[in-house]
This record gives sequence, C-alpha cells and structure tokens, in this order.
Amino acid sequence: MKDSRPTSCSKSGSRELSVPSLEAVVAEWDGEAVATRFDHETGAWFFVALHDTTLGTPNGGTRMRVYDRPAAGLEDAMRLAEGMTRKWAILGLPFGGGKAVLAVPRWPEGAEREGLLLRYGGFLDTLAGSFQTGVDLGTTPEDMLVIGRVTRNVHGVEFETGKIIDPGPFTARGVLRGIEAALEAVFGDRSPDGRSVLVQGVGDVGRPLAHLLAERGTRLLVSDLDGERAGQVAGQLGGEVVPTPEVVGRPCDVYAPCAVGGVLTRDTIPRLACRIVAGSANAQLGEPEDADRLHERAILYAPDYVVNGGGAAAFGLLSIGERDEAAIWARVDGIGDTLREIFRTAAERGESPVEAARRKVDAILARPRATVQPD
Ligand code: NAD
Repeated sequence: MKDSRPTSCSKSGSRELSVPSLEAVVAEWDGEAVATRFDHETGAWFFVALHDTTLGTPNGGTRMRVYDRPAAGLEDAMRLAEGMTRKWAILGLPFGGGKAVLAVPRWPEGAEREGLLLRYGGFLDTLAGSFQTGVDLGTTPEDMLVIGRVTRNVHGVEFETGKIIDPGPFTARGVLRGIEAALEAVFGDRSPDGRSVLVQGVGDVGRPLAHLLAERGTRLLVSDLDGERAGQVAGQLGGEVVPTPEVVGRPCDVYAPCAVGGVLTRDTIPRLACRIVAGSANAQLGEPEDADRLHERAILYAPDYVVNGGGAAAFGLLSIGERDEAAIWARVDGIGDTLREIFRTAAERGESPVEAARRKVDAILARPRATVQPD
C-alpha cells in the first residue's frame, strides 16, 4: 500500500498525522476487494481484505485487536493480505492473499466473544467460499471451532472429530529451518549449537521455537511482555530472561522477533547488536527502506513472510487433502532451502534478501497472469 497519508496541523500548531477515512484507505489500496460488516451488538468492525486471486482463493488468518480507529484495522488487514499473497507464492501453494481483522472496541470474553465469533462465521459464510481463514494474533484455535459451527471456510479444525490443530509448532519449525539457513550464510555452519538466539515473544510460536533451539544446544535469551511467561520458559529451558526494553541492543547471534510487527525501524536498526534477524512476527519492517538499512549494517534478515510460512504450509496442504504427515513436515522444512536460495541470490547480486524474495514472488505471480492474457 502506498503511504501517502497527508499530515495536518493541530490547533496547538504541532504537526500530526491526519486520520485517513475508511474510504481513503480503500481508495489507496491495490488489492482486489474488501468485504466489511459492522457488528451492531458489540460495535466491532469485520474487515476481510482480498488482495490477489492470481494463484487461487484468498486464504489468511483472522486477527482480533483493539485499534484506536476502525480504519487502522482495515489498513492492518490490507497489509497482512499483501503478505499472504507473497507467502502463498513463495510456498508454491494454490491460494491467493487475504486476511481478516476483527477490530473490536474492547476485548470480548465469554458469551460476548462467542456471539461475536458466531456472527463473524455467518458473515464469512455469506462470502460463499471466496475467503478461508484460520488463527492469527488475538484469535485461538478454540475460536476457530466456534466459527466452524456456522461456516466450513475455516482451517485448523477437524469438523468430524472437533480436533483442533495448532499452527504454532509448524511455524516454529519453519523458523528454526530459516535460522539454520541464515547461520550457514553468515557463519558457514548451520548448527545453532553454541549460538545465542534471542526469542522475543514466547507464545504460540516463540515457545515451541525456544524448545527446538534449546534441544540443539542454543544459548537461549527470552523476552516477553508477560514476564511470568518469559521466566517460565527460560527456567524450563535454562535460558536467560531479557527485559523487554533491553531487547534492541542486546548482543546475540540471532534476534528472533516472535511477537509484534514493526520492530525493525530507522530507530531500532542502528542499535541492533545481532548478525541475523529471523523470526515469526508478521510485518517486521517499519517501512520498505528498513530492508536496506539492515543490509547496509550487514545484518542478514530472513523476510518475514518467507520464514514464518510453516503454519500456512501445513494448513494449506491439509486443506487440499494432504494427509501424509511426513510430506507436510518436509514442506515446512523446505523453508530452509527457499531461504538458502534467497540468501545466495541476494549475495550474488549485492542486494537485500527482501529484494531477492520480491523478485522471486513477482516472477511466480507473473506466470499465471501471462497465461490468462487475451491474444
Ligand atoms: P501469541 O499471541 O501466541 O504470542 C505472542 C507473545 O508475544 C505473547 O506471549 C505476548 O505476551 C508476547 N508479546 C506481545 N507483545 C510483545 C512485545 N512488545 N515484546 C515482547 N513480547 C510481546 O502469538 P503467536 O501466534 O505466537 O504469533 C507471534 C507472531 O508470529 C505474530 O506476529 C503472528 O502474526 C506471527 N505468526 C504466527 C503464526 C502462527 O502459526 N501462530 C504464523 C505466522 C506468523
């Protein structure tokens, strides 16, 4: 999305960002469509952003979050939908980019949450299969079970048995393979044994990642806004807790952001004291130029939508009928090979891995487009 947001002056004379309207946000976007519903019962907005159907039906998670204005939720859905277009292309799976955001005015619990999710499921059902979803930040596999009571356009649930499938361990394994590929590119040895890795956020992805790393002899540094959670994981795995304000600037071989996005910015990049950034968080770069800032500092960055594709790979394969567990894990492990190729191309061309990945995605998306051009 273009960032041509106008600025305005407040009464006090200080410059501040003006708030773009919902119409302005839609008009700025290069995606294909947005489906929206206002939930009168809770005051929440449902946004489904459909970015690109070149490779197939849009598929992406549902994020639930309190935003300071609905338009920010829509912008989030659009940005994340673009990331999904790239993620499916890189994974070589037949899906398009889409993402949903439930922009709630307050955090819903109990019956209010259940009602909201059921109405959201009904909304998804009216889209008649043009978007399929799963978990994302703020929603849980259990939420998918509730949504699955009213629509089949949801992943992560075996409807026959009611079994819930957690994407976190698949994503964590993909991140591990990405870290190994990056270690190989930087140090010539892929083993995490003896390397220091700072895992920021030990939730659904960060926690299993920390386990995988500890099993491989990594010197583990752990940080989480929830200090108790960080302490538990560090205690269990023999790691060290890093207070959240000390994450940027903490010396380590690998910084693995596994919490929020926007952590790599013109402000934080000059203070990073790592050789590699590879983690699951979506939208880690504050702005596109941050890829070059990392490159200039010789910090190898694994593009987020490539390294965090393990859960998507597993759910995508399951949804097209793959039942061979070994084949699913092999596809997740393939993220390491994809990153090896991206790092190699980037090094050969003297460009950032983000640029190398972008060119790879563009080439993949151009192929089917070429086949549907009229003569
Ligand atoms: P989660 O909500 O289960 O865990 C996030 C953890 O980060 C929590 O423990 C939270 O307390 C902590 N946290 C939040 N803000 C923090 C901050 N500023 N500093 C330190 N810790 C903070 O989320 P998750 O499912 O593990 O996802 C983590 C990230 O990975 C998100 O950006 C998500 O979009 C992305 N992602 C997840 C998956 C998946 O399979 N779950 C797949 C692809 C991408």
